[in-house]
Amino acid sequence: MKKRLEQLRKDALAAFEKATDPASIQKLETQFLGRKAELAKLSKEMKALASAERPLVGKLINDIKKDISDIIQKKKSVSKSGTQSSVAFDHTLPGITPVVGHVHPIIQFLEKIEDIFTTMGYEVVEGPELETQEYNFDLLNVPEDHPSRDIQDTFYVDKNDKRGRPLVLRTHTSPVQIRAMKTRKPPVRLLVPGRVFRNERTDAGHESTFYQCEALVIDRGIRVTDLIGTLELFLKRLYGEDVKIRVRPHFYPFTEPSMDVDMSCLLCGGSGCVFCKQSGWIETLGAGMVHPHVLVNMKVDPKKYSGFAFGLGIDRLMMLYYGVDDIRLSYSGDLRFIEQF
Ligand SMILES: [Zn+2]
Repeated sequence: MKKRLEQLRKDALAAFEKATDPASIQKLETQFLGRKAELAKLSKEMKALASAERPLVGKLINDIKKDISDIIQKKKSVSKSGTQSSVAFDHTLPGITPVVGHVHPIIQFLEKIEDIFTTMGYEVVEGPELETQEYNFDLLNVPEDHPSRDIQDTFYVDKNDKRGRPLVLRTHTSPVQIRAMKTRKPPVRLLVPGRVFRNERTDAGHESTFYQCEALVIDRGIRVTDLIGTLELFLKRLYGEDVKIRVRPHFYPFTEPSMDVDMSCLLCGGSGCVFCKQSGWIETLGAGMVHPHVLVNMKVDPKKYSGFAFGLGIDRLMMLYYGVDDIRLSYSGDLRFIEQF
């Protein structure tokens, strides 16, 4: 009988050693310690033993029970603290939602603008933010002594172009138009969105980094009325059919004639308010007919072709659209602002 008991102990410990999950531990516990288990049967048979042998066998049975109980405890604690949880996994419970980001409000707004122009057949092109003075100024008819070239207005970097002049952080997206025309022939309809940089003192209305979007159209017989019609259609699609526009003469080196375009105030509808300084109008964008010098720089014959160009400050239009009153919020990285869009 002692032999049978020793074998039983060996079998039980080996079986428990292999068990890893709570279910199989439970099963083995019933198999070895249950009422119908081998050990229980042997306990009953003990009565038939000689009285001298009985205490020894009784002790052995108790030892085996203790060994089995010990290994069960050990296994249960490992399976609880280990990777295999003894807690049932309820797959119907709601999960933990991961934090998902979204597109920045400026880019969201820019995409609206791109949608409007691409439906009018415009091609979206982009270019480098670090530019040569040739592309940023020379080829755009901006003379050497123009104030926008001044170090007060423009960021220059410690790296020179091939002609030995410092590179600039582009002050507008116009150089991309010149670059794009190197590989294109009229007719063209281009939309050039991008980030630009000016050496500005920042306040609620000014930032040293902001977004611009420019357009260039070159074809035979393009006139000022095409420009004004395009801008009116664009602003109505963006802000609604009630928007009115007006144009005022202005000067830009790269267009002739040049104009500033105002839009009726969105807040007061044109009757005058604090936002529009009681004028009823909001300065919205600069535009004009492409200067013949610039056309020549684009290798386009100004006798055959004409074109228009305009530039929008995306930040200002976005602020008008969403009712944001401080341009600096867009670049602050403050999630309380960003998450509202
Ligand atoms: Zn107003």
